[in-house]
Amino acid sequence: MSAYLDYQAAKPVDPRVFEAMKPYFTEEFGNPSSLHNYGYHATNALEESRLKVAEFINAPNPDNIIFTSGATESNNLGIIGAALRNKRQGNHIIISEIEHISILNIGKYLEKEGFRVSRVPVDRFGIINLEKLERLMTDETILISISTASNEIGSLQPVEEIVELAQKKSIWFHSDAIASESTIPIDVQKVPFDLLTLSSNDIYGPRGVGALYLKKGIRVNPVIIGGGQENGMRSGSENMPGIIGFAKAAEIMKAEIYKEAARLKILRDKLVKEVLKIPKSYLNGHPKKRTPNNANFRFDYIEGESLLLFLKDEKVEVATGSACSSKTLEPSHTLMSCGLLHEEAHGSLLLTLGRFTEEKDIDKIIKVLPGIVRRLRILSPLTPSDLLKKLQEEEN
Ligand code: PMP
Repeated sequence: MSAYLDYQAAKPVDPRVFEAMKPYFTEEFGNPSSLHNYGYHATNALEESRLKVAEFINAPNPDNIIFTSGATESNNLGIIGAALRNKRQGNHIIISEIEHISILNIGKYLEKEGFRVSRVPVDRFGIINLEKLERLMTDETILISISTASNEIGSLQPVEEIVELAQKKSIWFHSDAIASESTIPIDVQKVPFDLLTLSSNDIYGPRGVGALYLKKGIRVNPVIIGGGQENGMRSGSENMPGIIGFAKAAEIMKAEIYKEAARLKILRDKLVKEVLKIPKSYLNGHPKKRTPNNANFRFDYIEGESLLLFLKDEKVEVATGSACSSKTLEPSHTLMSCGLLHEEAHGSLLLTLGRFTEEKDIDKIIKVLPGIVRRLRILSPLTPSDLLKKLQEEEN
């Protein structure tokens, strides 16, 4: 069995979730828009699911939840929908430099449509600079979109402070909560986001389903037009098995999140401590203000891709950065924004832990990684000669 350490890219569906979904593929196949009994059952199941997802983030009303096809769509609906809705109030939007590619590309799209988009920079730990954010806000600013945490380096953003700043200027605040959804509880009554992106797979539900939370009084223009489902904000027949699975995953996550996060933090801290014993290895992102399941390293003189391939041969499955950007040869935009050099940003190794990670998975990578780093450094033309000699001696 492989040691799977890429939970940020994909999570297995929890078996309890899969069990809950099964009947909705077969006997409970109704469409909530139908007026007969099958439709009636589906409507009840849909509204029960909405309630469970609302409870997961302590939303006061289930009507605050709009089901979508996942985080990308929720980001589109939240940002484009809010921009279109408020374009008479202003045309300026603020995002951060280290947003997920779905948000960066929405920013580019809105620029083409005549909006002005500013990108707030981050410090060397990947945390946004609040003073710079405040300076970017103008009377024309209608929306700020900054994720709760980085999906690459796990850095936690000061969302409470951002909410306060946004509220003072009556600017809507949207946040993509995907990277922290499985480890950091969300309470929208404590931190009153205006719009929040959620996804099912990130809490061990099926892929292809997500939600956008809208605070009371917030409405967005739909980006998918049709039969008017989801209160007119997201048309299309509801993905019932997906929604049932998402709701079950939310229910389980709500009950288990504290315990799970504490367990993952212990494993992650062991991983970081041991990996940093490798000479000239570094932890990317903030040492403390990060999601408890994220570790992102870099190693002088070698590339992350080579590490990934050697680890794959040892049946340790890892990533070098965001799965959604992995097919480009560009270095990580997140690490570049943190001020790393091109070659440093290319050296990164992203390890994310999850519900089914066991201590033996961590022990496996701790065992094989030092040797792989050493062998790659011996092959690297960048390794200085004195270190090379030492490594060759160790290898023999
Ligand atoms: N936002 C973040 C932070 C992500 O990590 C991802 C990818 N899991 C997405 C959005 C897009 O999610 P999806 O591909 O499921 O739409």
